[in-house]
Amino acid sequence: MKTAFIGLGNMGLPMAVNLTKTFDVIGFDLSEKALLSAVAQGIRCSNSIASAVNGAGTVITMLPDGKSVKSVLAEISQTVEQETLIIDCSTIDIATAREVHDDMSKRGLQMVDAPVSGGTAGAAAATLTFMCGGEPSAIERARPLLESMGKRIVPCGPAGAGQAAKMCNNMILGVSMIAVCEAFTLADKIGLDRQAVFDVVSTSSGSCWSMNTYCPVPGIGPKSPADNDYKPGFAAALMLKDLTLSQDAAQAAHAATPLGAHAQSLYKSFVEQGHGAEDFSAIIKALAVVKRERAA
Ligand code: NAD
Repeated sequence: MKTAFIGLGNMGLPMAVNLTKTFDVIGFDLSEKALLSAVAQGIRCSNSIASAVNGAGTVITMLPDGKSVKSVLAEISQTVEQETLIIDCSTIDIATAREVHDDMSKRGLQMVDAPVSGGTAGAAAATLTFMCGGEPSAIERARPLLESMGKRIVPCGPAGAGQAAKMCNNMILGVSMIAVCEAFTLADKIGLDRQAVFDVVSTSSGSCWSMNTYCPVPGIGPKSPADNDYKPGFAAALMLKDLTLSQDAAQAAHAATPLGAHAQSLYKSFVEQGHGAEDFSAIIKALAVVKRERAA
């Protein structure tokens, strides 16, 4: 049976390309540009959600936010058969994730929230980690599809648990990216070679994904958005969304997350200054300006 893939952006397109190697995939995206890129990469595409999901055994969504997931799933649930499995790989808030699980369940549809980690490089290499929330039987049904796009499938608990895990992960990512950017900003000021910073930190106790895999300065480490003029990758606006999700959850649960809160405020002002469409590692440019202002 065919698998419908809705949302063919920076992540969705390379994921769908890997899925096509094993499964019969039909894609859909609202953006004409995204559809053209998908067709150029060999994905069969449809010109409406309804025709993409008609007769699909599984529907996978990879969308920007909870609002788009809610509206797409509401539309899908009118069209698909009861046996259809819904897998939402977008990063969204836990409350919306639970709400859509509930809505799908009322229509007799099984669903898994399965947000991902690994970035666009992980999506292209099919090495993503999927954090799964939902009934164990639904997660097992999703497993073969997820395995064609990723390396690790981690059942995290009931509906929404995948989103909860993703939110914790990305709070660490936002904080660690800023920490790595600060280290390079400091190194520049004190005359320490950037390559030396990478060679030491990437093999020392400061090592982390933001340094080792996604270095925020050009010409250092593996290729990253810094080598492509900070074209995303993972847009700063999406990082702000994720940090806001974790701060909302922390506030509701009375959890102390002061560094998460500070990272959110730095990304908020970065996005407000018009940098939302740049990669989130571009925040190093804003930190360099802060340093100059302080020095002046
Ligand atoms: P993106 O903006 O590149 O892609 C989203 C796509 O969804 C776009 O092509 C857009 O046209 C399409 N879309 C929006 N509304 C739609 C609708 N109603 N119907 C059909 N298509 C619609 O975003 P992305 O970077 O691919 O991220 C997608 C999701 O994955 C987000 O939730 C993000 O937080 C998460 N994520 C991104 C990364 C990353 O590195 N980029 C990593 C992990 C998780």
